[in-house]
Amino acid sequence: MSDNINTSIEPFAKKDGGLVALDVHAIRKDFPILQTKVYGKPLVYFDNAATSQKPKAVIDRIVHYYENENANIHRGIYHLSEMASEAYEGARNIVQKNINAASRGEIIFVRGATEGINLVASSWGRAHLHPGDEVLISGMEHHANIIPWQIICEEKGAVLKVIPVTADGELDLEAFQKLITEKTKFVSVVYVSNSIGTINSVKSIIEKAHAFRIPVLVDGCQAAPHIAIDVQELDCDFLVFSGHKIFAPTGIGVLYGKEKYLEAMPPYQTGGDMIQAVSFVKTTFKEIPYKFEAGTPDISGAIGLGTAMEYISGIGRTMIHDYEQKLLSYATEKIRQIEGLKIIGTAREKIPVISFTVAGAHPLDIGTLLDFEGIAIRTGNHCTQPLLAGFGVSATCRASLAFYNTIEEIDFFAESLDKVIKKIRS
Ligand code: PMP
Repeated sequence: MSDNINTSIEPFAKKDGGLVALDVHAIRKDFPILQTKVYGKPLVYFDNAATSQKPKAVIDRIVHYYENENANIHRGIYHLSEMASEAYEGARNIVQKNINAASRGEIIFVRGATEGINLVASSWGRAHLHPGDEVLISGMEHHANIIPWQIICEEKGAVLKVIPVTADGELDLEAFQKLITEKTKFVSVVYVSNSIGTINSVKSIIEKAHAFRIPVLVDGCQAAPHIAIDVQELDCDFLVFSGHKIFAPTGIGVLYGKEKYLEAMPPYQTGGDMIQAVSFVKTTFKEIPYKFEAGTPDISGAIGLGTAMEYISGIGRTMIHDYEQKLLSYATEKIRQIEGLKIIGTAREKIPVISFTVAGAHPLDIGTLLDFEGIAIRTGNHCTQPLLAGFGVSATCRASLAFYNTIEEIDFFAESLDKVIKKIRS
């Protein structure tokens, strides 16, 4: 272990000069699943980039909804339906406030980041792309931000271009500058890589794209749990994220879009609740966001998402960020000592996601043996096959941490990793 790494969780300096500490042991009590054991060993959950665990506040809110408020929304004129509608729309207000959207109409509830990107690629793409146009993504994208663009480009005769990734795992912004031309009609980039943890300079990408009047979608899936997002400050035109990555349930997510774009886009799906009037001759649609929310949504999921966002705010974004950066540098230093271990993705700005390979040990074997120690990590391509191919590998081990993880867990992880690697090599 490096000498200059401070292993204690020290109080962080507050802006007013006082000191405040993130009390991780108190926070862990909020997450029932963190008290469970796996094969008789305490669970060490290091797969937060795949999905996060849920605090009791979120679980309780969902139980409360089903025990006291369950009804379909927007349609009933009775008390329960009004309560459910109020809770659902209240969650929209919380999301709006949290990401600082200009209006609540700009917040569309979707199934997750995947559905959000498909919605934009399909609806915006169908309406605006023409043969010869170009859509720019990056070499660091999750498959969810590749395939929808590939399909719409094929359909419309447009061309998909890719911003290259450097050997450190950063976006090559000089190459980006050259790729952006009069032909570019849309840019869709990931804020934070799920695979290697890089935090991209999306603000500068947005500024450069806007100089050409090109709209930009930001895939905020991995940014949302770790970074405070202000859509007006970023000036992104679209943003997507998934609830389940930010301590909320699965099946709910958010698409933020600037009003001027959403209003000009056709509906993605059609059906109940998104219409003004229907006849066999013509149908008219509701205003945003309802135009994009066809059918019965995930009501309890949206309510749970609102609670999760309030829970994060309650802890404090700065405190989470500072603590996670300590975890990142401690874990990086610790596992770097292991012989033959190579970290994939060494960008200057990262969230606590560490991808690595180990000479003479397959990721799958490492992951399987770590599981017997109660440690959950992810192995594979992390839905980023093109990115890993660029690094010359088809799979990595990935440890992804959240603010409820501890220095002690990292110590146990590093010790166990060393042990299982020796076992595999023996
Ligand atoms: N983008 C990124 C960067 C992701 O990490 C993920 C999930 N791993 C997605 C998109 C897709 O999210 P979901 O599966 O929740 O729709």
